[in-house]
Amino acid sequence: MIQNDTIVAQVTHPGKSSVGILRISGVNAKTVAIEVLGAIPKPRFATYAKFFNKNKKVLDHGISLWFPSPFSFTGEDTLELQGHGNPLIIDLLIRRILSIKNIRLAKPGEFCERAFLNGKIDLVQAEAIDDLINSETESMAKASLNSLEGNFSYFIQDLVEILTQFRVEIESSIDFTEEEINFNFDDIVYSNFRKLDDKFLKIKKIITDKSIIRETKKIIIVGPPNAGKSSLLNILSSSNRAIVTNIPGTTRDLLYEYVNINGFLCEIIDTAGFHNTKDEVEKIGIIRAWNTLKKCEHVLFVIDKTINFEDQKRISNDFIKKINSYDNSIRITFVLNKNDLLQDDFGIKKIGDFYFISISALTGQGINTLKKHLIKTEKNKEKEGLFAARRRHVHQIDLSYFEFLKAKKDWLKYNNIEFLAESLSLMNKLIGEITGSFSSNDLLNRIFSTFCIGK
Ligand code: GDP
Repeated sequence: MIQNDTIVAQVTHPGKSSVGILRISGVNAKTVAIEVLGAIPKPRFATYAKFFNKNKKVLDHGISLWFPSPFSFTGEDTLELQGHGNPLIIDLLIRRILSIKNIRLAKPGEFCERAFLNGKIDLVQAEAIDDLINSETESMAKASLNSLEGNFSYFIQDLVEILTQFRVEIESSIDFTEEEINFNFDDIVYSNFRKLDDKFLKIKKIITDKSIIRETKKIIIVGPPNAGKSSLLNILSSSNRAIVTNIPGTTRDLLYEYVNINGFLCEIIDTAGFHNTKDEVEKIGIIRAWNTLKKCEHVLFVIDKTINFEDQKRISNDFIKKINSYDNSIRITFVLNKNDLLQDDFGIKKIGDFYFISISALTGQGINTLKKHLIKTEKNKEKEGLFAARRRHVHQIDLSYFEFLKAKKDWLKYNNIEFLAESLSLMNKLIGEITGSFSSNDLLNRIFSTFCIGK
């Protein structure tokens, strides 16, 4: 799928550096080469060249690289110009290139998008490029590289293969009557169910044991009104994002803040708390908080430490009970706030499976201990991943597996080939969205727009 317009962008980091690289991709890359360099460079050779303006004056000089279609990253004709990394020179060169007909600036992620659209990489690999560039740890970089080399896509393709084979067998029999099908159909269905079940469980296990999810960790702050939740968000984010008052119910909806804790980026969400209330707006806020909590990795449950110890115990036990009925994989840390009003130590204690950290969101005491605890529990430091997965991939696999379980149940109940064919087609679509074989434009726009320009 060759695009009509040609795009240009700086692929190196903007700012001063010894070398600045521009990439031009599309049908008019040839014209750019002729106009700016005076000739098309020899394919895949580093060629020294002068970069000319319209009046044949030299703007800069450096290395030019020519990758004719389809042997380029995007699959299109691609020219790369490596000049001096001065933003003024780079800007002059970009403007010079943009003055040529049908050339425009690339949108974020557009080179990767074209590589995907031209079948050079699948969606998982495109995302792996983004993950590799943004990796914060060595193991994350290794895992992203593995995904880029197709390790994750391989597992998905394997699943799609079984699914496709199953669909062929099912759909080809739809037009026949029961008498015409002279083989034991139930056997075929159940043997395929077993194969799919096996594959799904394997992939789910691999994702749990061997994948690293790069996306920002989500940490949610909950607890009774006035315990100091908003004060905690403010001190963790070093801002006055949340309004702090001694009036219960001040925070009625969710507040999101990206926080960099000693180099570890996470998203912290402040909530209205989970108390009973008659206030309709607060009620909606509480429902939203529960729904958001299910998507978080870590809960900071804030308790006012100045209240009676028995009440503290009751509040924390109630919360543990409630959360266990939702999801017991989420980590919980109890933050005992307002310790400045007591004579107690600011420290961390482990009771059973849970950590209790005494802090003062007002004075900042104990905050460093809390930060260190969050980094220790949330950073994927030790994990050696086989590949980098995204939450999007895990979600699609879960949806598809859910549809599979439904298909099995329906088959047992109705023995209906059309129902089964429909379910299999839906599963195929859901899985296909991972690698991009079924992705809507909307999804693609969402994914590629998070990349930066030049990728
Ligand atoms: P939220 O309702 O749980 O979000 O609680 P807020 O953060 O709004 O705080 C409620 C009240 O407690 C405010 O008056 C805060 O100034 C006060 N507060 C919060 N944290 C502390 C703390 O560590 N020590 C003391 N002394 N007061 C605090």
